[in-house]
Amino acid sequence: MALRPYVVGNWKMNGTRAMLAEARAIDRSAQRLMKVEVALAPPFTLIHAVHKEVEEIGVGAQDCHAQGDGAFTGDISAAMAADAGATFTILGHSERRQGHGETDADVLAKAGAALDAGLQLIICCGETESVRDSGNAVQAVTDQLRASLPQTLESASEKLTVAYEPIWAIGTGRTPTVGDVESMHRAIRALLIDRYGETEGGAIRILYGGSVKPENARELLWAAEVGGALVGGASLTAESFMGIVMAAV
Ligand code: PEP
Repeated sequence: MALRPYVVGNWKMNGTRAMLAEARAIDRSAQRLMKVEVALAPPFTLIHAVHKEVEEIGVGAQDCHAQGDGAFTGDISAAMAADAGATFTILGHSERRQGHGETDADVLAKAGAALDAGLQLIICCGETESVRDSGNAVQAVTDQLRASLPQTLESASEKLTVAYEPIWAIGTGRTPTVGDVESMHRAIRALLIDRYGETEGGAIRILYGGSVKPENARELLWAAEVGGALVGGASLTAESFMGIVMAAV
């Protein structure tokens, strides 16, 4: 891993204040593993509390609205997430794309709102099982990403992270082969260089996500062009999450 590895926990719709002890434990361990950048994306309701509890790790949101403010009952803007203590937001997670009908254009609009609010981006992409079986995964994922990423972005490598998460691997315990991960990440790297240039596009971290656990983290994290991991289920306890973080060292 040439770039500083980045391991991000996505708590999804899990966690009440009782989970703050896990965030504290993750933060304490991360202070001893400075070679790895560690972050958590708790639900909106815990962003402020986690931000207050931790010293080293980053805290982010799992989504944001595309508008800055207005009559959008139940939604949260990027500025609100930033005000609560978020420094980044995940966007375009497959659970948003599939469960909430988010399109690439929605993800692009949200990316603009997040950047306006000073948030860094983790933009997700990934193919369904039927697309993988049809042999068109690389084409589908790069098409999705091309339409979801900002056309231009100053200091792109500081503001943008991409997460490749095959939908069929999320929460299923199944993972692609290392070879499949490497071919997908190489295709994403080529796209990023094409869009943002050799220096910036070459330095954007590309995370792998989908059933990463302490047992399989080493082979996935050390695959070519993998710059870290986006972790769902295994990020809910400090023990399993830090098992993954340690595999990145
Ligand atoms: C995710 O949803 O971002 C994810 C990677 O989930 P899991 O690790 O549980 O597969």
